[in-house]
Amino acid sequence: MTMKRCLQDFGYEELNFIEEWGYPKFRADQLYHAVTQYKSYDQISNLPKTLIEKLKQYFYDRGVEIIKTLKAGDKCEKYLYKLNDGNIIEGVFMPHGYGNTLCVSTQIGCRMDCAFCASGLNGLIRNLTAGEILSQVLCVNALKGGKGEKRAITNVTLMGSGEPLDNFDNVVKFLKLVSFEKGLNISLRNISLSTCGITPKIIELADMNLPVVLSISLHAPTDSKRSGLMPINKAYNIMSVIEAAKYYFERTRRRVIFEYSLIEGRNSDQESAYELARLLKGLSCHVNLIALNYVKERGLKAPSAQQVKEFMRILKEKGISHTLRRSMGGDVQGACGQLRNDYIKEVDNY
Ligand code: SAH
Repeated sequence: MTMKRCLQDFGYEELNFIEEWGYPKFRADQLYHAVTQYKSYDQISNLPKTLIEKLKQYFYDRGVEIIKTLKAGDKCEKYLYKLNDGNIIEGVFMPHGYGNTLCVSTQIGCRMDCAFCASGLNGLIRNLTAGEILSQVLCVNALKGGKGEKRAITNVTLMGSGEPLDNFDNVVKFLKLVSFEKGLNISLRNISLSTCGITPKIIELADMNLPVVLSISLHAPTDSKRSGLMPINKAYNIMSVIEAAKYYFERTRRRVIFEYSLIEGRNSDQESAYELARLLKGLSCHVNLIALNYVKERGLKAPSAQQVKEFMRILKEKGISHTLRRSMGGDVQGACGQLRNDYIKEVDNY
């Protein structure tokens, strides 16, 4: 059984079925405009009733709907979205001086099962379609008063639940849809894609020459430490990840970001800092450090502030470009998958 799709799954050219249905081309333009504004069928007033009725038969007007909003002290907002099949995903809105970033999910759940992450606790339920990923951006853009030329969302990170490169085709289609000039027209340069390091897919992405910022979740400097945190390392080890990062840089000329969540007793001691510096020496990259967000089901903890400082001192001494990221939205369960899991548990308890 194929799932009934949402209108956001269709690119501008793909809406030409409207003409096949016997309507003039400008109706497709009007529809595309309404879809980009994230209007519901009820809110579209400029299309013939017959056309709306026909569309309703085949397609959902929207891919996601916000069912819960949590506002954090730091102006971040966390959303729970409901999909048309009843599944739940989450996302985070982060305002900055230069614009607003939305963090989107690419899968319901995740099958990577990283030892610290809440998203993989119940495995993968399904991939999101391109339109469901786009719907998250269109939905919050509309919520924040974004209009055609004046977007409310300027930056997107694919850092919510799921592994983007494990849902490759839909993610690539999403990148094309969200950057399309007649649509939201968000520059690919303002989009960050974060991966646990599926190296053949990093190469494939590099070959497509889409200038997105690539973030690689490294989290450990040696194979034994990394395999203990990230099962994917057993399939694609650190050397293959570093090779893929180099290739990505050569093809796109975009500096690669390595994500490194500091975890007590696993990757945050002095030895790890020296190993990391050795591993990355000479590479065109930047390290994003973050103190682990505590996930109770996982049990791992962040190191002390003193240890974080010492780790950064060593990276500095060795000339490795790095920043300590603020854990934004921590008070609204900013870590991937946390909010959704709690929600699902709440619902299960009834
Ligand atoms: N699957 C992609 C996107 C994941 S989310 C990836 O692996 O990169 C974005 C980042 O948050 C990743 O670097 C992920 O490893 C990290 N992360 C997940 N859970 C975390 C936690 N509890 N604390 C800190 N970082 C976490």
